[in-house]
Amino acid sequence: MDDIVTQPLEHYGAAAIALSMLPTAVDDYRAVDDETLLLINDECTALEKRLGAARALIAGEIAHRSRAALGQDGLAQRNGHRTPQGFMKHTTGATKQQVGTALDAGALLAEMADEGRVDAITGEVQVPAHPWMRSVARAVAAGTISISASQSIRSGLGEPTSAVSAEQLEVAADTLAREALAGVDADRLFRRARELRDEIDVAGVKLREDELRRQRNLWLTDLPNGMTKLTWVMDPETGALAREIFDRMVSPKHGGVRFVRADQVERAKAIEADERTAGQLASDGFLQLMLQGADADTSVMLGSGAPVIRITVAEEALASGDSLGRIDGQVGATAVDTVSIETVERQLCNGVSIRMGFDPAANLLDLEREQRLFSRRQREVLAVKFGGCMDPACERPPSWCEAHHVKHVARDGGKTEVRNGILLCRWHHLKYHNEGWEIRHDSAGRYWLIPPQSVDVSQTPRPMPLKSAAMRDLERVRGQ
Ligand SMILES: [Zn+2]
Ligand SMILES: [Zn+2]
Repeated sequence: MDDIVTQPLEHYGAAAIALSMLPTAVDDYRAVDDETLLLINDECTALEKRLGAARALIAGEIAHRSRAALGQDGLAQRNGHRTPQGFMKHTTGATKQQVGTALDAGALLAEMADEGRVDAITGEVQVPAHPWMRSVARAVAAGTISISASQSIRSGLGEPTSAVSAEQLEVAADTLAREALAGVDADRLFRRARELRDEIDVAGVKLREDELRRQRNLWLTDLPNGMTKLTWVMDPETGALAREIFDRMVSPKHGGVRFVRADQVERAKAIEADERTAGQLASDGFLQLMLQGADADTSVMLGSGAPVIRITVAEEALASGDSLGRIDGQVGATAVDTVSIETVERQLCNGVSIRMGFDPAANLLDLEREQRLFSRRQREVLAVKFGGCMDPACERPPSWCEAHHVKHVARDGGKTEVRNGILLCRWHHLKYHNEGWEIRHDSAGRYWLIPPQSVDVSQTPRPMPLKSAAMRDLERVRGQ
């Protein structure tokens, strides 16, 4: 018994002596050549990974000895801490996040080691909670990947569902473990893990997109100094649009974008010379936009010079309806977000699409620009004809509306012409595409709303009367 207890301690003692030999003066490092500096950088990284694994094992064991089944007899509680997290923070001085990473990695290593063992307290045979993380756990234990990398892989991949099996997650986790070994950093690994999960679970993309959209939020807080703070939590699509506008307002300040057109160069120079900070420019710019929006003529649809976000999607997959799109900003695209096929269809209603054909060697074959965006004149006609959002219960004026293709662009081959256009406010446009509400245009020129089966099993068409006073006048005059 004594051996088992003292052995790790002796090893730590020996390691501490070895580590105390590491040079700690600036001049020690200034004296080495580049090659040596890079070599010791690698050595130090490897040491950190080993220490990270050791830290995780200790954290895991503290958590094990503090597990809920032990109640007040648990290690953390006996030492005056309600949770192992609190105990770890107190004993290490680390942040909540650092402690969380170590505990999660420790739990992972412990569950792999405990597989098949019987818990002394509960008497249950233990099964790993994250069996798909086996190769990642092995690499962490071997000190070849960091515990942050392991954390990124685990949280990015998420849990199995009815649509995503543990086996599929295991394949993805193995891929990510190899990428981590090849030097992909923890931030990038998290995004890669999300991408891989999206690719496994194409149907889940829409669910996650809906969930993020539900979390959108905007509120104002009064600050004690008389200022007001705006907080805006955006779903990825809204965020991409807002970022595009923000970048247009301030990018020359950030030195990010190079303009080629003369008028843009002029504008960029003016922004650079402006003595306002980027944040002040953005504040003034967003206010100006809001004032102009509030001032807008509600009888006219907005939309010229609209901000642009780019969504890419494979056409073959689009045709089969089994796909996902990717948002990336025009300017300084950093993160790539996944969008559902419903979102791609809705964007096709509103935007310009460009078909790019590539051969198997990724050489460009053809480039074809297609006009999906209703022209200014077409939108004026739609504004007069419909008079606002055509949802029967909605009262949004044309200026709030987007032009929707009654026959969808990709799915039905719908054309961008007035007879295939209808006005929907952004909210109803989203709702119709996402929930599968359809619109029918009959030979008498009337519009009908067809609810999805989830709303009305019989899918009884609902009349969609025109909102336009001009059209009502026309009908009245003609009826006389
Ligand atoms: Zn649409
Ligand atoms: Zn509406």
